[in-house]
Amino acid sequence: MRGFAMIEPGKTGFIDKEDPKVGPRDALIRPLAVAPCTSDIHTVYEDALGPRQNMILGHEACGVIVEVGSEVKDFKPGDKVLVPAITPNWSDVYSQAGYATDSDGMLGGWKFSNIKDGVFGTRFHVNDADGNLAHLPAEIDPAEACMLSDMIPTGLHASEMAGVTFGDTVAVIGIGPVGLMALRGAVLHGAGRVFAVGSRAKTVEVAKQYGATDIIDYHNGDIADQILAATNGVGVDKVLIAGGDAEHTFADAVKMLKPGGSIGNVNYLNGHDNVVFNAGDWGVGMGHKTIHGGLMPGGRLRMEKLAALVVNGRIDPSLLITHRFEGFEKIPDAIELMHHKPADLIKPVVICNDID
Ligand code: NAD
Ligand code: ZN
Repeated sequence: MRGFAMIEPGKTGFIDKEDPKVGPRDALIRPLAVAPCTSDIHTVYEDALGPRQNMILGHEACGVIVEVGSEVKDFKPGDKVLVPAITPNWSDVYSQAGYATDSDGMLGGWKFSNIKDGVFGTRFHVNDADGNLAHLPAEIDPAEACMLSDMIPTGLHASEMAGVTFGDTVAVIGIGPVGLMALRGAVLHGAGRVFAVGSRAKTVEVAKQYGATDIIDYHNGDIADQILAATNGVGVDKVLIAGGDAEHTFADAVKMLKPGGSIGNVNYLNGHDNVVFNAGDWGVGMGHKTIHGGLMPGGRLRMEKLAALVVNGRIDPSLLITHRFEGFEKIPDAIELMHHKPADLIKPVVICNDID
């Protein structure tokens, strides 16, 4: 098999490898479409996870099953499937405790392009196929299905963790594809007023289509001050973080949050940084302002539920896809777009119509 890999920190390229071995509960998949993630960029260029050598990148894909292990019950070769970016080990005790993303160790549910080869291969391996794959509904186009791997589950998880509920005032910091899905999640959870913090014309336009009521441009000054001014000093019930950094963004989020409010962070911070915020804004430690941070939940049930949101028109993933490439060999072009992030980019997708 051939795959597009992180050769070493800062360096990518195509490599050849043996096809992965399929264990009794596993599946081998050929991708129909794949999408690069901002996390691939953090991994390759920002040393965020630590060094990786010759590791095939990518964790967003849908595909066709090529082979399944002897114990796989619900999937067979030829089936088209949705593939979550996070593929937990469902027998682990952390899964039983409700934290499947931390099965096999903290963040151990994140296997693709972290602890094993990812989905940017002509073949890729999925552990616990019955637990992690979902059938691809006929109504969902393969390019849009890639948004179900990571962007939709991650964004929605920010609003779930923060506990957005009817009538809440919510601020979403960062409106790339993840933040846009966090925003959509807040709207689906019943938020009233929704501030989208962003500046690019394309993302602002899509934020409004997904239901943002107010746009805050962080180039116009301190975002906490702007949101406090817009709410007569009261602040917001929930903050969803999908952009920014450890040094500044949590300070803004804690400051703009009402007492009793909560933050749902899905932004991938640099592991070498410290998260910084002012203790006074946190009620000198007693303001009942809660910070949650989580990896997107994976697994089959979750994928089926999220696919139902797409099939029934609650989420339109096509608004996220600004660039489409035809052919597996175009993966480097898509990665380069993610690396340099032109202003009109939300999400690129690569249709893998040149491999079999
Ligand atoms: P993105 O880079 O496309 O979007 C982030 C946005 O935040 C950009 O539009 C950027 O301009 C904006 N931004 C930067 N600094 C800002 C600031 N100070 N205030 C407001 N906005 C600011 O990234 P994305 O693909 O949407 O992903 C967002 C984050 O989520 C990334 O860090 C990614 O690695 C992470 N992620 C996490 C998970 C998870 O499971 N938790 C999964 C996928 C991605
Ligand atoms: Zn990702």
